[in-house]
Amino acid sequence: MSVSPAPDATATTPPRLRFAPSPTGFLHVGGARTALFNWLYARQTGGQFLLRIEDTDRQRSTDESTRAIFEGLAWLGLDYDEEVVFQGANLARHQADVATLLASGAAYRDFTPAAELERMRAEAEGAGQAFRFDRELAALTPEQEAAKLAAGAPFAVRFKVPDGVTDWVDAVHGRIAFPNKDIEDFIILRSDGTPVYNLAVVSDDIAMRITFVMRGDDHISNTPKQILLYRALGAPVPRFAHVPMIHGTDGKKLSKRHGATAVGDYQHEGLLPSAMCNFLALLGWSTGDDTEVMLRDELLARFSLDGLQKKAAVFDPQKLDWMNGQHLAKLPLDEVMPHVYPAFERQGVSTRAELESRDTWFRTLVELLRVRSRTVDELARQAVPYFVDTVEYDADAVSKQWRDASAVAEILSATRERLASLPTWEPTSMETALRALAEELGISGGKIFQPLRVALTGQTASPGIFDVLVVLGRDRSLDRLEAAVRWLKSDVVA
Ligand code: GLU
Repeated sequence: MSVSPAPDATATTPPRLRFAPSPTGFLHVGGARTALFNWLYARQTGGQFLLRIEDTDRQRSTDESTRAIFEGLAWLGLDYDEEVVFQGANLARHQADVATLLASGAAYRDFTPAAELERMRAEAEGAGQAFRFDRELAALTPEQEAAKLAAGAPFAVRFKVPDGVTDWVDAVHGRIAFPNKDIEDFIILRSDGTPVYNLAVVSDDIAMRITFVMRGDDHISNTPKQILLYRALGAPVPRFAHVPMIHGTDGKKLSKRHGATAVGDYQHEGLLPSAMCNFLALLGWSTGDDTEVMLRDELLARFSLDGLQKKAAVFDPQKLDWMNGQHLAKLPLDEVMPHVYPAFERQGVSTRAELESRDTWFRTLVELLRVRSRTVDELARQAVPYFVDTVEYDADAVSKQWRDASAVAEILSATRERLASLPTWEPTSMETALRALAEELGISGGKIFQPLRVALTGQTASPGIFDVLVVLGRDRSLDRLEAAVRWLKSDVVA
């Protein structure tokens, strides 16, 4: 059989892609990554991105999981076109497609009793062989078949695998070929009238006019069966791209052991969706150079099928953290703010209403802190000194910067005096005044600035000291200096 032609991605009709999750658990990072690739390609080519919920497994599918899929996609900003398709609602069409295949002779009824099949399977396994259904077992004359049907005997429908080779040019793996002799006549409709996965997927993909199937490479072995079904149903075969699985840093398939694997967990931890998308995009795709940090528009501009990789991708939570920090610093502030308020509430630092009541001040603070934080929660924790009445002095900060208590008390007292005498509270005059003070005292600027930082924030690290003074404001800064001097002169230190 000839290689199925790969429809040209630059062809005049834009591609139609879909994400087809089974709602049997939460939206997993692997699924979200696959959805993202489909979405990027659809948006980039002016094509469509559709969503199909594969809820045919009634026992395992839950509404909660379907909701998690909707919520996860919405959070990531992966909007889909057209109405969501629920696979379970298409049973009648699935059965009609099976009827078409029966009518054309591409499929046949198999009345072999389940117990008989089981016995043969056990026997083959006992002899150390893999069981393979032999078409001859189901062979009946038209009269015999009619009699069984009339008697209401249960049957499954099997696809009659033709001779030859089934192959396709995969957008990731190149040509993949399966000799048909290795594919047994697989069941397409169970004896209870329900379709199997391969049939339902092909029937739905045809009905949804999908032209490009991009999914995990765990589906490669299903693809030849699906191609055979497309052909037997007289439908054009879509293009396929099988993207790699995701492993943990230990090289094992990603699982709960590796930490959070549900997209919702990251959402509730306050991760930025833009960082998550960037991180997910790099699981199985690369730009080809060393660019890693990309906002949504950059991802859209740079995504390409050529960059898709064959080898398993590695999910490294530390990289995700780092990526989040990069996005926190790089995104327009307006995109960051909606994620910041809940973090301040989660960390018990302040309430949204309070923060919004002094919006300009708060935005300045966020600007200062976001370049120094990896997450919005870390940002909120770093903001604590700007919200409390009394700062707590970190023990390490004290032993490092306030070692000589009486000398530091002198310096901070003089610092307070200089700052208090300034007619305006702005960085340039503060800096000039404090540098002049350092010179007078015969010490380096650092000998003032470092202890001052501890006095103002309780920490050894903070944004630039003059920024801190400005954002704290005159009164609060001077109060803190006074409190620090008192503390340094008190018994605690003595
Ligand atoms: N429901 C299948 C899955 O979640 C979809 C496979 C496909 O995309 O064809 O793996």
